[in-house]
Amino acid sequence: MSDLAFIGLDIGNTRLTASAASGDGQLLLSEERAAPGDADSAIPVLLEMAETALESVRATGGRVAGLGLGFGGPVDYARQRTRQSFHSPGWSDIPLAEVFASRLDIPALLDNDANAGGLAEALFGAGRGCRTVLYVNVGTGIGGAIVIDGAVHHGATTSAGEIGHMVLDPHGPPCNCGKRGCLEALASGSAIERMAREAGLALSGREVTAAAESGNATCRDLVARAAHALGLTIANAVSLLDPDIVVLGGGVPEAGDVWWQPLRESFGTYVVPQAQTTPLVRAELGYRAGVLGAAALGMKAAESVQGAPYTVTDRRPSSGRGAIHRAHV
Ligand SMILES: [Zn+2]
Repeated sequence: MSDLAFIGLDIGNTRLTASAASGDGQLLLSEERAAPGDADSAIPVLLEMAETALESVRATGGRVAGLGLGFGGPVDYARQRTRQSFHSPGWSDIPLAEVFASRLDIPALLDNDANAGGLAEALFGAGRGCRTVLYVNVGTGIGGAIVIDGAVHHGATTSAGEIGHMVLDPHGPPCNCGKRGCLEALASGSAIERMAREAGLALSGREVTAAAESGNATCRDLVARAAHALGLTIANAVSLLDPDIVVLGGGVPEAGDVWWQPLRESFGTYVVPQAQTTPLVRAELGYRAGVLGAAALGMKAAESVQGAPYTVTDRRPSSGRGAIHRAHV
């Protein structure tokens, strides 16, 4: 088992990262390059990066059992094709897993980067040992993943986990998806930035949070409003799913009490009483969630071929919530 490795390709808007990881989530190698402008230029670069990673693993006597692709845009998981990228052209309807599996002759699996990040946190990060993990990534946008028994729950139309596009206010601000008042339009880093602009402040989302932490009353109020909307939505999701833990990744949860306190208050107010004790914790893997998530997809690709799990993580029973002694940040 110890010589087995899984290749992960994280396809971001500005960066491409190739990595190799062991079955217990140790990062063995990682290479990053700037993303070329379109898919036609990016795919040959990704193939070359994957081949280099494969050769590096094999040169040390390791065996690569699978390859995963974490894509920074919507994915048709059932058909293993990209839908589109919101940031670069040419990514529509590409059978990415098939391209890599046939070229490199290893099992390959494609998913979106939020599902990949959630899988990594569930297997190797803040959610390890938990049966059901709700992962929410709060950055420029808001993505999510539901991981049950070490596997992403995709749902009937493979759209499960899209917490960012749950509508809180049908008459609210427009969202990137075309609707109005989605959680993403009310609580993401971009939403905080927009609210600041409406209040006459030319600050980035991160600057608004920093000003709030320094005591600026207007910024404190903006950050609290965003956190309140998120807390309410997570409360509704927890009332429905009853996960063992909620893991919050991305840039916004790096904030301090100005964000976490209103988030917890709102969550506590709106969640069903039985789930009041559900832990809300900060993600542990940071920037590694993307590459480890892609590698974890490689593990899932290998598992689908061999028909049994590679995962070495010990799993606690679902009632083990009380056994999770994790500091609330
Ligand atoms: Zn939306």
